[in-house]
Amino acid sequence: MPHSASSLLFRLQQGAPVCLAVAGDSLDQLFARAEDALRASLLVELRLDALPDPAQAVARLGALAQASPRAILLATCRRVAGGGGFAGEVAQQLALLESYAQAGAATIDLELETLEATDPERLRQFGDVLAQQGCALVVSAHDFQTAADPEAVLAKLRRLAAPARPSIYKVVNTAGGLADNLATLHAVAAHAGDPVPVTGICMGAAGLPSRVLALRAGAPFTFAALDEAGATAPGQVPVAAMLGRYRADRLRTQTEIYGVAGNPVGHSFSPAIHNAAFQAAGYDAVYLPLHTEAVDDLLRLARALPLHGLSVTMPWKTAILPLLDSLAPLAKRIGAVNTVTRLSDGSLHGSNTDAAAIVQPLAKRLPLAGARVLLAGAGGAARAAAFALVEEGAHVAILNRTPDAARALAEASGALVADTAHLAGYDVILNATPMGMAGPHAAECPVPPEALDGVRVVFDMVYRPRITPLVRAAQLAGIELVDGLEMFTHQAAAQWHSWTGDEPPAGVMRAALETALQSA
Ligand code: NAP
Repeated sequence: MPHSASSLLFRLQQGAPVCLAVAGDSLDQLFARAEDALRASLLVELRLDALPDPAQAVARLGALAQASPRAILLATCRRVAGGGGFAGEVAQQLALLESYAQAGAATIDLELETLEATDPERLRQFGDVLAQQGCALVVSAHDFQTAADPEAVLAKLRRLAAPARPSIYKVVNTAGGLADNLATLHAVAAHAGDPVPVTGICMGAAGLPSRVLALRAGAPFTFAALDEAGATAPGQVPVAAMLGRYRADRLRTQTEIYGVAGNPVGHSFSPAIHNAAFQAAGYDAVYLPLHTEAVDDLLRLARALPLHGLSVTMPWKTAILPLLDSLAPLAKRIGAVNTVTRLSDGSLHGSNTDAAAIVQPLAKRLPLAGARVLLAGAGGAARAAAFALVEEGAHVAILNRTPDAARALAEASGALVADTAHLAGYDVILNATPMGMAGPHAAECPVPPEALDGVRVVFDMVYRPRITPLVRAAQLAGIELVDGLEMFTHQAAAQWHSWTGDEPPAGVMRAALETALQSA
């Protein structure tokens, strides 16, 4: 292994090995971003190919390297043919990259397309220039459309890059589905002990697991965005979340992996809540957002990775049922699963914690047997409410925009259809519609004011915003409230319990949810 390579790998091991890529369309913008990035990570990739004239960056790069002796500056000037912005010829690109190495870049990225277009002798000279400067070489391959076989790509990189003596191979694919993460992570792990190790990630929303789990698999570094605003592609993770929420640099091969599957899933609060809970309780576990376009793809990842537990959200709560190995009886009756637990024999068990998150908060406030409940909505959440409350002995009446859906749910669950001409005499009003939720339905209330007369508890599943028109009306009338936050925390705590068997840190979960809501 050349000296520059071992020194680079050693330096990566000393710091948090997360690479932040920065680009800018002027020198000032690029280097201002690089300085911001260096405050968050020592490993910063400068995308010099985004500049109008990348040759002008040499002096600034040298000055930055001198001013930040601990920084690991990775200089990239990718040609258009390799998916970059540099319009020059191969010879110009190689000369530029050599000048970045001479200016003080710790490492240089060279893409597959340039390897293919360069004769071995020129590559050997290129490797010599870098070695003289103590500069390491990353050779990279990017598939911007699909997930090419990483081993085939690696074989090609190895063959073509040999004369330049690379330090690290980098393979970047585009995940068409969650299962595409598996081959990339497998390739990283298979070569973790090689003299020239492999870093690999998948781009795209479904590629997030590979970004977070690359270090766990043995990659020398992974990639993150400086912040939410700097995340330029779906699946990119801000560095604060990479190291704080997911602790990507501390995950080990035995770290258990959990996640929330849905579409969309990027704005789910579950990763904030469950990672906080795992950390507070000292569990060696990480919980990821899993963008899922097809439920069988999710199951492939779940079985192969494996996932130890899953939260399931829209639109997969029903579609996942036939793919699981066993179901809790209530989840089967409801026809919806929001929790999957990997049992000790490796089989996947589905259950529904929405039901308990509706029953338990209500049961704390009034006896449910015989309680008269007006349930607004006949969708997934209403289904869980109707079955669970009927099972508790409540008299449930369903009110829904589409009367046929109300009738079908009433028939299936043993509830009644509400008499819209006479919405009075209820003990509980339970909103399971998006009415009142931030957005187009913010001003809507699922029931008229007179329906609140004599009501003992109002339960609004909506939690964004916390004060909906229904909640406001209940507060004004002095009616006891169960809000959407309480339900959300309850269902998450019940999931955590079904995965771990332990008492969930409910206070930590609630605080994490409130923080996530405030910053959303
Ligand atoms: P869903 O399956 O899409 O069902 C939505 C229900 O609301 C349907 O009955 C639909 O009626 C009705 N609806 C939709 N828009 C409406 C409108 N503008 N006016 C009147 N009715 C309308 O959704 P879901 O999963 O059951 O979720 C329902 C609500 O509960 C959402 O706001 C969700 O965020 C919330 N929720 C909260 C938690 C929590 O933990 N706090 C958990 C689950 C759900 P049609 O039949 O006419 O379409």
